[in-house]
Parts: sequence; structure tokens; C-alpha cells
Amino acid sequence: IKKIGVLTSGGDSPGMNAAIRGVVRAAISDGLEVFGIYDGYLGLYENRMKKLNRSDVSDMITRGGTFLGSARFPQFKEEAVRLQAIENMKANGIDALVVIGGDGSYMGAKLISEKGFPCIGLPGTIDNDIGGTDYTIGYFTALQTVVEAIDRLRDTSSSHQRISLVEVMGRYCGDLTMAAAIASGCEFMVLPEIPFNKDELVQELQRGIDHGKKHAIVAVTEKVCDIYELAKYIEEKTKRETRATVLGHIQRGGSPVAYDRVLASRMGAFAIELLLKGVAGHCVGIQRDELVHHEIEEAITKLKRPFKADWLKTAEKLY
Ligand code: ATP
Repeated sequence: IKKIGVLTSGGDSPGMNAAIRGVVRAAISDGLEVFGIYDGYLGLYENRMKKLNRSDVSDMITRGGTFLGSARFPQFKEEAVRLQAIENMKANGIDALVVIGGDGSYMGAKLISEKGFPCIGLPGTIDNDIGGTDYTIGYFTALQTVVEAIDRLRDTSSSHQRISLVEVMGRYCGDLTMAAAIASGCEFMVLPEIPFNKDELVQELQRGIDHGKKHAIVAVTEKVCDIYELAKYIEEKTKRETRATVLGHIQRGGSPVAYDRVLASRMGAFAIELLLKGVAGHCVGIQRDELVHHEIEEAITKLKRPFKADWLKTAEKLY
């Protein structure tokens, strides 16, 4: 391998820039050339790529987002589109690819690898929903962002004796919600992994009110329910002012926290190490504080982390 490509794909996450930097610097230090591919698989298909030097990633470790851009490009599921993408890389002399993204992006990387073009996936998503790794790049930054937002909500909820519902990202993974709820002392949490009964939640809130609680904060993972409808329902039942706040894309931005920078740097360098060893079609993870790699297929289908039931048990004791 002499020349590698790197791209970011799917939803962005803080630390993607640090990961690109890790890939670029490690590759250059091992005597490889690196091409940055713009806007994920879309740019790969459209042949938009450029050589990256060491200095092209200067100052990037602190920056949120991804300077290469990211995109959703569903057409990449078509074989002809992927073959064109591989042709573009070959025409530019690229002989391996690092893909930073979520599990959808991993699927693209797996399929390219199956065509004999080596790819390595790095887990870039705030959702922490990828198998084969304990943590994803961006998760800890998003966690900090959510906790800071909930701290602010707590101040005003307390002043106004209000119930606040906060919608947190994570798709079908409650990790971000659960960790943020514990870290910010939320009263309750609604998670995708646990069946949700709104009347039980109302009962819990009522119990708190009866015990003289001035406010309550409920962290709710996106997609479980309509948080605005839920707020109306709770207000009707408890007669307490109830407001919903959707944190939205705020959670995806911001300068990465130190842990994400370290994780991204280590994973970026590890991807190069793996490619040079001839590993392909694998994704990088961190498990029990050690860098690991698994077949992409296996990571997606078999290595999903189980729900952290012990976290929830602890949280319930602390409500
Ligand atoms: P996030 O976790 O932020 O949603 P993701 O990588 O899972 O990130 P997706 O939109 O699912 O985000 O996937 C990103 C891109 O990967 C898609 O737009 C598409 O180009 C490519 N992709 C997704 N699924 C496949 C697939 N089955 N085959 C080929 N390419 C795919």
C-alpha cells in the first residue's frame, strides 16, 4: 500500500477531524501518501478528492465537525455506483481507504472491501451505537454537551417549579441519554431499550410532587415518543407546567473533549497500522481500554453491546 484515501460519512461527530488528522499524520510518518475525499461516498463517486499534506490537518484536532464534509448518499447501495467509486480511487493511485462513520458507512466499507479494495472503518458517531467497540468517537463530547444543557434546564426548571423533558440523540441506543441523566441528576429517563409506559412516568412524577419536589427533569431518547405530546399529557395529568426541549444538532457540534481527541488519534493511527499489516474489511474499536479490530460484518451483526442494565439500576437508586 502506497496511497490511502480517507473520508467521513453519515452524521458528523466531534472528533472526526482529529481522526482524519490521526490517519493523515500516521500514514505520512509511515511513508504513505494520503488523499482526502470530500463529502463521504458522494464525493468518492463524484471523484472529488485531494492530496493532504501534514499541514493540511494542522489545528484540526480542536475543531468540531469534519473539514472533509459528510453526506448521506443512499445510491451507494447500488453496485454500479460502488464500482465507479473504486475506479475513481484506482485512477488516483489510491490503494486503500479509511472510512470514518456509523454502521451505515461501515456497510459501504465492507462492500468495497469485498471487491478486493482494502478498507478500514473507524467508529465516528455520537450515538455510541456501533458493535465491537465500547465507545465511539464523539460520544464523550456529546455527553458533555448534553450534561451542560441539562444543567441549564435544571436552573430554570427549579425557579419555575417546572417539569422539563429533554430529548437526547442516540437513535436506538440509550447510552447517551442514560449517562447524561446520571451525570446531571435527572429524575427519570426514557430509553429505547426499556418499554415505555407514560402513565407509569406520570405516577412517578406525581410521587415526586407529593414529596415536595420543586422540579423534575426527564431525559428521553429520540424516536421513543413525541416529546411535545408527552409534555402536554404530563401537564394535563400533574397540573404542573411541563416543557419539552429538543437538543437536536447542538449535540453534534463543538470542540471535541480530550478523551475523544485521544481516542480519534489512536484509532486513526491504528487504522494505518492495520492496513499495512494487510487487514481489510475490519473496523476499529476500543474494548476494556485496548484498541481492537473486528470484521465489519461481525461487528454490526454479532458484537452489539448488551444494554447497561446495571447503570439503570444505579440511576434508579439515585432518583
Ligand atoms: P450515523 O450513525 O450518524 O447515522 P451512518 O454511517 O450509520 O452514521 P448512514 O446514513 O446510515 O449513516 O450511512 C452513511 C452512508 O453510508 C449512506 O449515506 C450511504 O452512502 C452509505 N451506506 C449506508 N448503508 C449502506 C449499505 N447498506 N450499502 C452501501 N452503502 C451504504
